[in-house]
Amino acid sequence: MKIVVATHNKHKVDEIREFFKDDFEVLSADDIGSYDEIEETGDTIEENALLKARSLANLTDYIVIADDTGLFVDYLDGKPGVYSARFAGSNATYEDNNRKLLRLLEGVPIEKRKATFRTVVALIYKGKETIIEGKVEGTILDSPRGQFGFGYDPVFFVDKVGKTLAELTLEEKNEVSHRANALKKLKEYLKNNLEDFK
Ligand code: IMP
Repeated sequence: MKIVVATHNKHKVDEIREFFKDDFEVLSADDIGSYDEIEETGDTIEENALLKARSLANLTDYIVIADDTGLFVDYLDGKPGVYSARFAGSNATYEDNNRKLLRLLEGVPIEKRKATFRTVVALIYKGKETIIEGKVEGTILDSPRGQFGFGYDPVFFVDKVGKTLAELTLEEKNEVSHRANALKKLKEYLKNNLEDFK
């Protein structure tokens, strides 16, 4: 059985493919033809996940999922949140966003640097829409650490693991991350709701 992920972000597809490797064949939007990633115009990550999933569900009968993720930093009143991708501007790189985040937190003591990564996965299958959330708690460090992952991973220290997300291999990140926690619930949902789940 196939799942198509409404994204061109290779890192996300790799994580989702690794997570479902014993259950589903995971395709990226690129694998099924021309899919233009839509603009994320929603006010929440829930809205954006649904927007992305709907635009791809119009093109395929496979199970479609879309993930929208935000980093919510307590000291910044939940910013960058839904604007995580564009935090340092519309063409910002991951490095630009991390630099801006570290600058805004300069001098802030470690105990006030708590943050939550939230992922919302929107699933659409046979016209039915479902929203599933996963999160992980952590602390924003004052400098990047680690080689793996992408985005804010090098500055996000997972409290219960004692490492940044970028110090975890793909397999290790897939045990603790916001996305993994959403995908675990998604797998459970699919097992309970799809007769043809193998
Ligand atoms: P998106 O809108 O879901 O693609 O995510 C928004 C931004 O959050 C991305 O541009 C990344 O900077 C960041 N992001 C998403 N997922 C992750 C992750 O798993 N680790 C670190 N950063 C992430």
